[in-house]
Amino acid sequence: MRVLVTGGAGFIGSCFVRQLLSRAYPDLAGAATVVLDKLTYAGNRANLAPVVDDRRLKFVRGDICDGPLVARLMRGTDLVVHFAAESHVDRSIADSSAFVTTNVLGTQMLLQAAADAGVGRFVHVSTDEVYGSIDEGSWPEDHPLEPNSPYSASKASSDLLALAFHRTHGLDVRVTRCSNNYGPYQHPEKAVPLFTTHLIDGVPIPLYGDGGNSRDWLHVDDHCRGIALVAVKGRAGEVYNIGGGTELTNRQLVGRLLELTGRDASWIRTVADRAAHDRRYSVDISKISAELGYEPLVPFDRGLAATVRWYRDNRRWWEPLKAATAARLRPASPSGSGPADHHLTRS
Ligand code: NAD
Repeated sequence: MRVLVTGGAGFIGSCFVRQLLSRAYPDLAGAATVVLDKLTYAGNRANLAPVVDDRRLKFVRGDICDGPLVARLMRGTDLVVHFAAESHVDRSIADSSAFVTTNVLGTQMLLQAAADAGVGRFVHVSTDEVYGSIDEGSWPEDHPLEPNSPYSASKASSDLLALAFHRTHGLDVRVTRCSNNYGPYQHPEKAVPLFTTHLIDGVPIPLYGDGGNSRDWLHVDDHCRGIALVAVKGRAGEVYNIGGGTELTNRQLVGRLLELTGRDASWIRTVADRAAHDRRYSVDISKISAELGYEPLVPFDRGLAATVRWYRDNRRWWEPLKAATAARLRPASPSGSGPADHHLTRS
């Protein structure tokens, strides 16, 4: 079996590849694994260091928008797991063009090439942000898509394109929509690593608005296990929500991180709210639980403590990434605090 993983050098894609090659998914064990990744600022070959010597792994640096390359890689591929995306909401607010190019056109390119090559299965990794915001209750998979940010609108477009390729071309597409991921190897522009590394270094952390925005937290290992279940046992043309079962306001999340880093609330700096900031996300995971036996296995407190420990122990991994972000923000923002550094966000 050959698996093509797009975005396999990013946070979640690299976790999937590390797990796959460590035989965490018995039904996919032994698969030859090709990673296609452009290595944007968010991609990092160091994320694959633990499996770099595995002979089943082949790394291809390239763009999912490169038609001839994508067509070549699809030949002989049995399963595509599509993670590659521009993934940071704040960047999509500053400039949405790369989001439309990669998330919409890139996904279309992959779907067309997969259909042309007769690829067996295509898992499209989407997000719960496509549903918009929900005041109470949880979204089932058939809830209408009402995205609010350019990021989530581009993800909704690719999500719908993926489903359309199933209906139109009979491509075996499965879509997953997950909640906020956390865990090791997440780029330090995202909420948990940004706050953790700031607090470790004694730098105040920015909290959006009243801190009351609410998110469901999902350990990246649980997310990737859910994706593997969908890839192996899911049904063609179906959408599966994947959640972690721990809902916290941003202020509550910050409280946990303060405790874990030994800091107090004086390290919080409230900043102006993000434009069109979704108030609450909540996915109903009863479909994937009933059909595929999925349940989140990593208890949030344990997962978060281990994540904070990982950032403490892996300064060499995140320090250059934070330095690069600071350098990028410097010209537009002489104070050193720019949009990406201000926001409590996952994506
Ligand atoms: P990430 O930003 O950490 O990684 C994205 C990867 O895609 C990087 O390795 C990057 O180099 C690569 N990439 C970007 N553009 C590319 C292109 N044109 N061609 C090839 N490779 C390209 O993102 P992540 O957090 O790992 O998210 C992975 C997927 O999961 C995304 O599709 C995202 O929308 C989705 N998702 C993420 C979360 C979350 O909490 N992080 C939640 C829901 C859904």
